[in-house]
Amino acid sequence: MSTTPFADLPPADRPVVVTGASSGIGEASARALAALGHPVVLGARRTEACERIAAEIRDAGATAYAVGLDLGDLAAIDSFAKQAEELVGTIDVLVSNAGFVQPGEVLTADVELLEQHLQINVVGTRRLVQLLGAGMVSRGHGDLVFVTSEVMRAPRPGIALYVTSKYAVEGMVSVLALELEGTGVRVSTVRPGATMTEMGWDWDPEVTGPLYADWQRRGIQRHDNFMLPADVAAAVTAVVAAPPGVTFRVLEVEPLAPPITQPERTNR
Ligand code: NDP
Repeated sequence: MSTTPFADLPPADRPVVVTGASSGIGEASARALAALGHPVVLGARRTEACERIAAEIRDAGATAYAVGLDLGDLAAIDSFAKQAEELVGTIDVLVSNAGFVQPGEVLTADVELLEQHLQINVVGTRRLVQLLGAGMVSRGHGDLVFVTSEVMRAPRPGIALYVTSKYAVEGMVSVLALELEGTGVRVSTVRPGATMTEMGWDWDPEVTGPLYADWQRRGIQRHDNFMLPADVAAAVTAVVAAPPGVTFRVLEVEPLAPPITQPERTNR
């Protein structure tokens, strides 16, 4: 009889790091995992926001700490990983959620903007996985969860550098899943669709409006419903709480379309 190498540990013995935890999906994931009993370290550049969220989590009786993290700075990532393990012990779950996105096209965007996307979304992401994943392999258990995007299925023109970086992450993750087969470490991808977060709020509205209209015209933006960050966090917690011996390899999470009225149905 084969045995599963994945340890069935209680959440209290499975410390978590969430990147990009200062807002949106990362914040909601940190709150949800802490509520399940995981000690959680929240990482992002906006340390004050992480500290406020961590304090609220602690007020609710769970364990949470904020540590500054800039995925564009390799030395800062090393220091973040060290501090996180000093605070909560060896990390058993990494929710690699932080993401950088700005508008840009393949033919016209500056090379510096491409480099920025790759540095944060790919190189920085890979560095933290390298630092925390090695310990998981030596202990024979852990979850590496990557928040990518529905752009894997439906690439969006106008955010070409972001799409490029998310494809790079998924390429890395696909190979990582094979490299870690049999180690007990699970590798999962959560691909959110449209979610109401801070993503895109800092863009020029004169860019955002036409982009959204273009996505509607192409049928990529099929309707106007958005998910809440907690909806995507539900997928993240499902991945982390999956039974021993099971891995939820890729989860795509989409907002449900608005109901179609009866006349609209019969007219189609
Ligand atoms: P938010 O803008 O709310 O969150 C993005 C997070 O990433 C913030 O916490 C931000 O923190 C962090 N971040 C950005 N740059 C860095 C950096 N250099 N170092 C560390 N952290 C950084 O957006 P979402 O919650 O929507 O985004 C979370 C993930 O979900 C991203 O990977 C995004 O690509 C993905 N996604 C989102 C979708 C959506 O519709 N919202 C759809 C598909 C995927 P800070 O600024 O404090 O550093």
